This record gives sequence, structure tokens and C-alpha cells, in this order.
Amino acid sequence: MIQERFAPRLKQAAFADIADESEENIDPFRAWSVMMKGEKPGGHGERCVAVGTLDMALWDLAAKIADVPLCLHIAAHGPKTPIKTVQAYAGGGYYYPQSDAESLIDEARKIRDLGYTHFKLKIGNAPLTQDLTRIEAVSKIMSDSRNVAVDAMNSYGRTAAMETAAALAPFNLWWFEDICDPLDFETLAEVVRSYDGAVAAGESLFSVAEAKLLDAHGGIRKAKDILLFDPVHCYGLPGYLQIIKEFEARGWGRQSFWPHGGHLFTLHVVQGLGLGGTEVNPLCFQPFGGIADDAAVIGGCVSAPELPGIGFEARSAARRAFAGLLGDSW
Ligand code: MG
Repeated sequence: MIQERFAPRLKQAAFADIADESEENIDPFRAWSVMMKGEKPGGHGERCVAVGTLDMALWDLAAKIADVPLCLHIAAHGPKTPIKTVQAYAGGGYYYPQSDAESLIDEARKIRDLGYTHFKLKIGNAPLTQDLTRIEAVSKIMSDSRNVAVDAMNSYGRTAAMETAAALAPFNLWWFEDICDPLDFETLAEVVRSYDGAVAAGESLFSVAEAKLLDAHGGIRKAKDILLFDPVHCYGLPGYLQIIKEFEARGWGRQSFWPHGGHLFTLHVVQGLGLGGTEVNPLCFQPFGGIADDAAVIGGCVSAPELPGIGFEARSAARRAFAGLLGDSW
């Protein structure tokens, strides 16, 4: 899709069609409109991620031309002054094909030793008793089950969702994420009615129209629940900002947004827009997951690199990956 539709539209555009007011930099919003020309609403498929990926590169370019870290460049759409440091949690805790219990414990220890205070692990792909054992083991390492979130990766039907919610309630988990099919708002609402802890939703919804359905029918609560929309999955920052605007109009605060992603682009988005906090993937989804090589996690909080743009260059593994693609020009 990038090769056939979106990159050619950008390449064929005149600079005047994508320039900002200074005419010395690109305006990623105008470039986004060029990319989306003729695209129909709905039927997102992989298209939203294709557009979101190019959008991420356009923001990196615009901030590099402006010679500022990306969070500063997007702060015009946020609290004007980016937040310097944001609350973070480490995502991970996937099932291991062998020695799952030992490997998970080892991973959680590494996460804790890196300075993360909160950790999210996967559930829903094993018998409930095994998942509860996993949660107990991780909770011990992270000091308290209140510092642990679980992600069911949209795996439960109605009955399993209700049974699991009842079993999780005594843990007082940080949140219960991606409970059922992302469009099964009926089941989500039923779980929310019976589950007093926080739930997290929205990771697999890609448009403002779908986001409106989640708020209208998913039963989610402004006071405690978490909105996971991923800026790159939602057609990039222009699409993500439409979703934030819609939720603000419905009375939600920006603190409810903890975008899925776990890489430096989402960290800049959280700092620049003044959102609740960020996912970080320190060990998985390499070489992009995680923060800068020389950055520390302090009190469970992180900051984006101060290099111009996104600053993926501050990760040596990402540098090596780009160098492999670009050769001497890097
Ligand atoms: Mg998830």
C-alpha cells in the first residue's frame, strides 16, 4: 500500500501542497491530506498502519528540519510546553514456548531492575489457573498486584470474559486490557458493569467513528478506565488527534490516554500532548521498543531523547538496522 498508493501521492505532490506557512518545512497535516486523497472511510485493514508509518516518518522529518525534539514540534497541539518526564510501564510478559513460569519471572526481574515500577503481561491464551499463577509470580516481583496490568489480547468470548473478570477482581490489578473482540461492545459493557477495577480498551480500534462507538456502547468510565488507541495504528497523529478531540468533547481528560506502542514515537506523543503515560517495550519488539540507550528510568518515569526528531538514532540497535538499509548514506 505504501509503494502503490501512499508514497507515490507524496512524491507526486508539489512542495507547495505539503509546505507549512514558513514554506521552509513540511506540514505533516497537509502531507497527510495528500496521502489520504480519494481514500474512503472505513475498511481500515492494514491501510491505517501503512498511513501511520509514513506519518511517523513525516513528523520525524518535520521536527528534524525544525531542529527540535519531536515532542516540542507537536506541543502546539498539546499543553504548549511538553511534559519533561512521563509515567511509564513496561509491556511484555508474552507466553514462552518453554519454561514459561521461569522465563516470565526472569523477564519481570529484568524489567524491575531497569527501574520500571509497573509491568503488563499477557493472559487469555492458557487455562485460567495458569494465568493466575503467572499474575501471582509477577506481582511478587513488582511488589504488589496493583502495579501489574494484564492484556487478554481480545481473546475472550462473553462467558470466559465474565469468569476471568471475577477471578481477577481480588488482585486489584492496575488494569484489565483488550478483554474481548474490539467491536464486541456488548460483552465489554457487561464486564465493566461487574468489574470494579480499571479496564483498558481501544488498541484495536482505528478511527474516530469506532472510538465513538466504544464510548457510547462499551460502558467505559471516565473516572478510571484507560484509552489505548495507538497513534500509528490510527492513521498517524492526525487521526489520533481526531480521537482525542472527540473524547475531550465527551468529557474525557487527556490523563485517560495511555497509547499502545512502546517506542520513542509514542513517548514523544505522550510528552507533546500531555497524555496520561506511556507504554515502553524495553525487551520486546526490538530494535524499536524501548527508550534511548543512555536514558534511565527514574521513579518509573521516562523522557524522550533530546535529539532532533524522534531520536531513534539514540538507540544503537535501531542505528544499526537503518545503516543496514541505507548503507553509506546513513
Ligand atoms: Mg493490548
